[in-house]
Amino acid sequence: MKERLSKIQKEAEEALKKAKTLEEIEALRVKSLGRKGFLTLLIREIGKLPKEMRPSLGRLANEIKKSLSQVIEEKKAKAKEKRILAPLDLTLPGKRPSLGGLHPITQVLNEVTGIFSRLGFRIVQGPEIETDYYNFEALNMPPGHPARGMLDTFYLTKNTLLRSHTSPVQIHVMEKKKPPIRVISLGKVYRYEAVDASHLPMFHQVEGFMVDEGISFSHLKGVLEVFLNELFGPKTPIRFRPSFFPYTEPSAEVDIGCLICKGKGCSVCKRTGWLEILGSGMIDPSVFKAVGYDSEKYTGFAFGVGIERIAMLKYNISDMRLFFENDLRFLRQF
Ligand SMILES: [Zn+2]
Repeated sequence: MKERLSKIQKEAEEALKKAKTLEEIEALRVKSLGRKGFLTLLIREIGKLPKEMRPSLGRLANEIKKSLSQVIEEKKAKAKEKRILAPLDLTLPGKRPSLGGLHPITQVLNEVTGIFSRLGFRIVQGPEIETDYYNFEALNMPPGHPARGMLDTFYLTKNTLLRSHTSPVQIHVMEKKKPPIRVISLGKVYRYEAVDASHLPMFHQVEGFMVDEGISFSHLKGVLEVFLNELFGPKTPIRFRPSFFPYTEPSAEVDIGCLICKGKGCSVCKRTGWLEILGSGMIDPSVFKAVGYDSEKYTGFAFGVGIERIAMLKYNISDMRLFFENDLRFLRQF
C-alpha cells in the first residue's frame, strides 16, 4: 500500500510539471483529488484495512494529498497570472470595432425628404393615433363610405384608430395654415393585413401636397417627374394612369418603367414593363370645404408613396419582411 501511495504521488507530480494551462491543471486535480480521483479512492480503501494498519497509512495519504493540493494551487496561480498578462502584447493586431449604420428604410426616407426639401417642401409629422374624423371623414369618406374598406384600419375605440395613411396630416396642416402650402409628411401607417412578402401591418408612407391659387395637374406632373428622376435615375420613364381616391379628383396612379427589365417585361413587372409606384391627384373640393378653404380660389395636388415599396425596387428586394427581421447579414449590405 505504501508503495502504491508513493507511486501515485510521483506520477501526479510528473503530470503536473507538464501541465501548463488552467484547464490542464484543473483536469489533473479532478483526476487525483476529485470525488472519484484515484487518491480519494485509495484513502477510502485504507478505511477498510485492519485497524492497526490504518493510522500510519492514513497519515501518509493525507500528507500526499496536502502536498499535491499545494502544488496544484501554486501552478494555478501562475497560470492565471500568465493569462492576465497575455493581452498586454502590444504587437498583436487590434480588434476593429464594428460601426453602426442607417437602416435602409431610414436611408430612403432621408433621400426622399432631401429631394422635397430642395423643392421647397416643409417636413411635418403628425400623430400615429388619429380620430375617425381626420383619418376618414375630413378626407371625403363619411361613415359608411365604401372607400373606407380599401383601408383595413385598426380601431382602438369606436372613434380612435391607428392611422391607415399619412393623409390626415393634410387636414391638420390646412386647419392651421392658409395657402400657399408645400408640405411633406412622413411616418408609420398601420393596416390590418395578413403578413406576406409584400404586406405588413405597419409600413412607412410619405405624403406630399401643395395648395395655392392656380395649381394645376401639370404642377403635380412636374414635381413627381423631378422626384422620380432623382430617386431612380435620370430619364426614368413615367406614366400616369387614371385611378380613384376619395380625397382627390381627378386621381392618377403613377408607374415607372421597370428598373429590372428596362421595359421589356419580366416577372417583377408581371410582363407589363411598368411598376406601380405611387398614388396622386388634385385635392377634392370637399376636402377644402372640411378645412374652410375656398375651393373656387385655391387648388392643390397631393400624392402618397410607400417607402418600403421604393426601397424594394431600388435595392431589388423581393420580401418586405426582411426590413424588420433585424438580421445583421441583411442590414450590413446597405
Ligand atoms: Zn420588368
